[in-house]
Amino acid sequence: MEARSIVHMDLDTFFVSCERLLDSRLNDKPILIGGLSDRGVVASCSYEAREFGIHSAMPMKLARQLCPEAIVIKGNSGNYTAKSKEVTEIIEERVPLYEKTSIDEFYIDLSGTDRFFGSFKMATELRKKIMKETGLPISFGLSVNKTVSKIATGEAKPNNQMKVDRGLEKPFLAPLDVSKIPMVGEQTSLALRDLGVRKIKTVQDMPLKMMEKAFGKNGITIWKKANGIDNSPVVPYTERKSISTERTFDQDTIDVIKLKGILLAMAENLAFQLRRGEKLTACVTVKVRYTDFSTYTLQAHIPYTAADHVLIPKVLELFDKLYSKRLLVRLVGVRFSHLVNGGHQIDLFDDTEERINLYQAMDTIRDRFGDRVIMCAAGMEAKTISRFNPFTGEPPPLLANRRR
Ligand SMILES: [Mg+2]
Repeated sequence: MEARSIVHMDLDTFFVSCERLLDSRLNDKPILIGGLSDRGVVASCSYEAREFGIHSAMPMKLARQLCPEAIVIKGNSGNYTAKSKEVTEIIEERVPLYEKTSIDEFYIDLSGTDRFFGSFKMATELRKKIMKETGLPISFGLSVNKTVSKIATGEAKPNNQMKVDRGLEKPFLAPLDVSKIPMVGEQTSLALRDLGVRKIKTVQDMPLKMMEKAFGKNGITIWKKANGIDNSPVVPYTERKSISTERTFDQDTIDVIKLKGILLAMAENLAFQLRRGEKLTACVTVKVRYTDFSTYTLQAHIPYTAADHVLIPKVLELFDKLYSKRLLVRLVGVRFSHLVNGGHQIDLFDDTEERINLYQAMDTIRDRFGDRVIMCAAGMEAKTISRFNPFTGEPPPLLANRRR
């Protein structure tokens, strides 16, 4: 099998870097970015802040106690989305195959370009180009697979690059802490510690069976990653999953209030699915099919979000623009695309404590009792319809035709 050349690129303290482009007085200072309310969390922090023991996802309140002189900035997801797009476009223009996994992270497959340019040289030039054109610091790791490259990026940071030559994956990983393996979270890390495992070397020396016994299927994956084995492909960005739902009516309708209620319920349900999957969307599409089968779609690009209070009004706004023919409607649909991984925090910069509490409470109830046990009153019509038509042999309307 031919060895691959996989690059992992990650923008350094991305939100902080974006803010520093707007205000150079922020350079070299401890910066915290996140929601300002007491329930807010740190979405990103500068290296100067990390020296105080602060890390992302930490409660803002605690971070402020650890470093009272830190400058706290309310994030701006529109600005970050625009900068993320700039970087994406530079990459897209120059490489044959890339995957965007979050707002500030990319995998690039340079296999095969090797003999022509040398993949390390190519990645170096790409990194320089990104820094020159966007002003943002970015780091990369290069190796034969995604796992080793991602770990290499982490070791290279801040603002640097690293190559792990083919065959040297195991010795590179051996001295590192087990928590550096991408899928090893806090809990697994503690469990490994209980077994006396701190360094990746110890996992490398363990029999696979032992890891499987201790951690099941995850144990096998961790063992493989620890040994520098990862065959997962770089998935082309254009083929990233979208989520969508649509509904064909038993009887074509012209009832706008009913149509809007259904669209609202669809948007609400899809937004919940985004949050549950820790995804964000940057593109909303609404579809309307009229009784004569003519079909129209309208889409809007938006800052990355998974928030009801952004997505629902956007869906309804698109529908208002789209529903110009006052004809009977046969079908409506909603799609969220341009999905990337990312915590919901990115939407919560503006938010009050009440709203954060509301989202958490609603999602907890849905996780326990089902997607549609709690919803906006205006979307309840959709539920009523599904409840009152249980004998048509059709699947529940909102769950019908959901893709992937
Ligand atoms: Mg980053």
